[in-house]
Amino acid sequence: MTTMEEILQHLGDSTTILKKTEVNGGDINEAFHVQTERQAYFVKQNQNVPSHFFQVEARGLELIRDTGTVHVPEVYYYDTGSGSGDSYLVMEHIKKEASTPLLQQRLGERLARMHRTTGGGYGFHQATFVGELDQINEMVPSWVEYYRTYRLLPQFHLAEKNGRLPAGRRQRLSRLIERLDSFLPNDPGSSLLHGDLWGGNWIPGPDETPYLIDPSVLYGDRLMDLSFTELFGGYSGRFYDSYKQEAPLPDYYEEVKPLYQLFYLLVHLNLFGEAYGSPVDRILSHYIDTKG
Ligand code: ADP
Repeated sequence: MTTMEEILQHLGDSTTILKKTEVNGGDINEAFHVQTERQAYFVKQNQNVPSHFFQVEARGLELIRDTGTVHVPEVYYYDTGSGSGDSYLVMEHIKKEASTPLLQQRLGERLARMHRTTGGGYGFHQATFVGELDQINEMVPSWVEYYRTYRLLPQFHLAEKNGRLPAGRRQRLSRLIERLDSFLPNDPGSSLLHGDLWGGNWIPGPDETPYLIDPSVLYGDRLMDLSFTELFGGYSGRFYDSYKQEAPLPDYYEEVKPLYQLFYLLVHLNLFGEAYGSPVDRILSHYIDTKG
């Protein structure tokens, strides 16, 4: 395994490491806060991820950074392990502060501005990851097609393989996927999305600056990002108010929200098991038994 000294030498810092602290909280990688004589770094390391794992994370961070809206940590260096499995990503260390109303407000308005960045269609140009699950992608002209073929169907097949689809769930989910075009707009407007916006993927940073981390970017309906923020919490009324002030929401937001949360719940069902089964079933009943 590559040592921290070697990693830092690769990016040109051969000064003494004064402190190296393991940071907990991530599901996937080993992470360290490293302080050298020169500066502080946040280093993620993993021996079991596909070789493009950190390249994809770095690319997502770069795309968000290029919008000039929400801050992201600067990426200094990544190594993809070239098949040896030992990959790492070195980035700016963000000192975590307490969340304040101003931070939430800034995050809301800056995310709304980020969502003004559009792609020439729906999807993404390369495969990404959601958690450590593969997320295959294409750029396609129809949002419904993208959401069906590249988001719901792969999770459906994985759940089936994992034995997470009892007959009723299987039937409703398959019907919902078939009838998706009656529940979702085909061309809602394509925005650059963070793609994995649970409350742990933003950091309240110094100077009341919010930072986004760990993206799983795509071009899609911005309501997908917002729906996920509402699933597990971590965002205050100030966040939503300032988002809406900057970019008002369409009337149908509440109608599509559970459908976007469904994708993330299926991912959780596949990663963490049946604890996520009942919220999945509630959403399926809502669309299929009452509307469909
Ligand atoms: P994983 O990729 O394994 O899910 P995370 O990116 O979620 O790991 O990071 C794990 C922990 O480190 C979280 O508590 C997160 O807030 C924190 N963290 C992530 N990136 C940075 C950073 N650039 N600076 C400081 N802390 C960070």
